[in-house]
Amino acid sequence: MASDRGPSAGDATLRRRIEPWEFEVSFDPRELCKEACLLYEIKWGKRQKVWRHSGKNTTKHVECNFIEKLTSERHFPPSVSCCLTWFLSWSPCWECSKAIREFLNQHPRVTLVIYVARLFQHMDPQNRQGLRDLIHSGVTIQIMGPPEYDYCWRNFVNYPPGKEAHWPRYPPLWMRLYALELHCIILGLPPCLKISRRCQNQLTWFRLIPQNCHYQMIPPHILLGTGLIQLPVTWR
Ligand SMILES: [Zn+2]
Repeated sequence: MASDRGPSAGDATLRRRIEPWEFEVSFDPRELCKEACLLYEIKWGKRQKVWRHSGKNTTKHVECNFIEKLTSERHFPPSVSCCLTWFLSWSPCWECSKAIREFLNQHPRVTLVIYVARLFQHMDPQNRQGLRDLIHSGVTIQIMGPPEYDYCWRNFVNYPPGKEAHWPRYPPLWMRLYALELHCIILGLPPCLKISRRCQNQLTWFRLIPQNCHYQMIPPHILLGTGLIQLPVTWR
């Protein structure tokens, strides 16, 4: 049932919420928004309480800022256990992936789950390797889908009164395209998704360029799930 109040009444996290326009622009999978945005949750040890906040790029990328903030603001010995959940508008670049792995190596009782709206410069082999290395270090990486957009809207956004269920309904196609590409990255395949920008009219083009290896290695339901690929027919 829709509430006639926004998240403001009695919500201690209000000042840490971002504005609806900010969320809509930053996390739109169809756009190549320059700003990176991180929405994060921290759960310490066995405590049920969840700490939520957000971060942006400064002179450093938002992931490195997060690690610096977390480790400098409190005593953080390797024995401390905590669960981190990140919702990132862009996936980590290779340098941030390296910094995250170093942080996790020093803090083996920290778990990290990352949901990303878009893959950052995903054609770059170093960025692809960085994501694979993160996954091999035990980090879970997934593309944000409708449940995650809904969740972020309710928990991180200062949505207007009565609009708690009005998270932006981005077309699922873009989420599926990125999910397919993440699959390619995990399997060590060449890029399948090509994104180009036409500067004059600011249009962003998403194209699939599947090769034989993609047809052979990617589960058919993921390829077909995009609705843009038909499996090749072999005539005998
Ligand atoms: Zn980075």
